[in-house]
Amino acid sequence: MIKDNISAIKQLLSTPKNIVIVPHKNPDGDAIGSTLGLYHYLKKYSHNAQVITPNDYPDFLKWVPGEDTIIKYDATTEDSNKAIDNADIIFTLDFNAFHRTGQMESVLENSKAIKILIDHHQEPDDYATYCYSDVSMSSTCEMIYHFIDMLEDTDKIDAHIATCLYLGIMTDTGSFRFSSTTSTTHRIVANLIDKGAKNADVHNNVYDTNSYNRLQLLGCALTNLKVLPELRTAYITLSQNELRKFDYKKGDTEGIVNYALSLDNIIFAAIFIEDKQEGIIKISLRSKGAFSVNEFSRAHFNGGGHNNAAGGRSETSLNTTVEKFLSILPQYKDALNYE
Ligand code: 5GP
Ligand code: MN
Repeated sequence: MIKDNISAIKQLLSTPKNIVIVPHKNPDGDAIGSTLGLYHYLKKYSHNAQVITPNDYPDFLKWVPGEDTIIKYDATTEDSNKAIDNADIIFTLDFNAFHRTGQMESVLENSKAIKILIDHHQEPDDYATYCYSDVSMSSTCEMIYHFIDMLEDTDKIDAHIATCLYLGIMTDTGSFRFSSTTSTTHRIVANLIDKGAKNADVHNNVYDTNSYNRLQLLGCALTNLKVLPELRTAYITLSQNELRKFDYKKGDTEGIVNYALSLDNIIFAAIFIEDKQEGIIKISLRSKGAFSVNEFSRAHFNGGGHNNAAGGRSETSLNTTVEKFLSILPQYKDALNYE
């Protein structure tokens, strides 16, 4: 679909424009990598580009080239609204529906700018002038690489762009291990290293900068781990008190759910995290193989995502949420015991 429009997009980008680039709320490595990768690319054509994140992101992303140019909508609302008002083009990256940007939903909805969606989540909404949606893609960063390639411009990829795109491919593929990782993904990653991405540094910056408290929180989460062998399911809870005890910082719970999924014979994993400030339980779901956590989350927990990684939320207490989860699971006994 985007291929048919690529010459129109090329034309659009042939003269300097005011461009805003927006990822989803609580941006992860792919959201930050794709928005900044595109930002550096657009800067090469003298566009007035600005990344606006709905809110803050974890410290382990606060080294990415260009990160210091990002403005956060919740902290800088007036300037953000001005930039959105003046935008000729808004790129929306790594999300499929405006509500995924939280507070930015209505301002994006009301904007008259040309919208270009680039994303790999299921069921994109129909707001974009140009929509590049592909759920088979490992990451939005991989799609930005393909996008630049469709513009016949991979020669423009420099070390900054390469580092940003490497970051998002690495984090969204669980360091190149999820089944979304294809030979093309590896070829792109190889090109990015050739173009100056320092792979070992990116891994170190993201994965080897834990605080002592974060590891203690992980210990607490693993102590709370429950296993349901007949349902091939494992889940973890973290209460607000537990988060407080270990001085929780944004990003500290990232990846913890994968420990539950790493158990032998477990194919479905969940983590329930109490967020008293938002009044919700944030849920992360992961699976292996055919069991779709995207469908599970859409059906029961107001969320979605991908087949093997999805998020959701619940507005009841931690206990009630877990009870609901446990009461639903038996319906899926056959689906969970495939093979
Ligand atoms: P996480 O569990 O890491 O928050 O999210 C896992 C994946 O699901 C990510 O790709 C994330 O963008 C997506 N995701 C998380 N929450 C939601 C949601 O409420 N709706 C949709 N469509 N996707 C979500
Ligand atoms: Mn992504």
